[in-house]
Amino acid sequence: MKAGVIGAGTMGAGIAQIAAMAGCKVWLVDADLERANAGRDKADASLDKLVARGKLEAVTSDAALARIEPSADQAMATHAADVVIEAVPEDMALKRKLFATLATEAPGHALLGTNTSSLSITKIAKGTGAEGRIIGLHFFNPVPLMKLLEVVRGQDTSEETVSRALAFGELVGKEPILVKDAPGFATSRLGVLLGLEAMRMVQDGVCSAADVDKAMELGYRHPMGPLKLTDLVGLDVRLAIAE
Ligand code: NAD
Repeated sequence: MKAGVIGAGTMGAGIAQIAAMAGCKVWLVDADLERANAGRDKADASLDKLVARGKLEAVTSDAALARIEPSADQAMATHAADVVIEAVPEDMALKRKLFATLATEAPGHALLGTNTSSLSITKIAKGTGAEGRIIGLHFFNPVPLMKLLEVVRGQDTSEETVSRALAFGELVGKEPILVKDAPGFATSRLGVLLGLEAMRMVQDGVCSAADVDKAMELGYRHPMGPLKLTDLVGLDVRLAIAE
């Protein structure tokens, strides 16, 4: 399978890595070659960590890395792709423009996924001409370690696209859940709510930030408290999702 990943930042580098580990040939695209190369370097460092921990053979890691080709030429990188996944910044206008281009640049059979954490899949797809092929493929950070894939079905996403997205999720070693296009999907809707309430609790003097986190870690067996998690994701990102 051939994959195009657009945006070689935190998420794009991780998505390229797991697709390459699953045997896909991957073109990793960014606005310039320097950033695309930096994305491949991130995947390289992450693969090295898996090898050092004994979770991956060095030879398998080398083969995966060799399948990732950095590029600044989106048209070239996507013209033969079976799946294209977008991981550019969380900006509706940017994503809409990108999918309108992909609708004509990528082959007619290509699955078109967006890694948005909060934007409406229906709105991203509307008017692009490829509404039926566009779907949310919401991976989690760090992509190589997090098992969940939230597959988000837009109003116009076809049944075939849904089945192919679920199959792609399994191919890259994830456990997909299928979610309707609704604000916050399943994960951000509950996750951001906990994060916001945790901040209000500190503001109201209910307990310290450290103790809010401890309450959820020890009392509810969350691997990480809601405030630590908010710091990891980034306050700016969480604010944008909440809004
Ligand atoms: P990032 O800023 O690390 O990476 C974005 C990359 O896209 C940058 O390298 C940038 O140069 C590139 N880019 C911008 N415009 C481009 C264009 N027109 N063509 C090609 N490349 C372009 O961002 P990120 O954290 O990887 O987030 C990407 C997406 O994934 C966002 O929609 C975000 O909401 C979502 N997401 C992020 C996380 C997270 O924890 N960071 C988790 C899940 C989903």
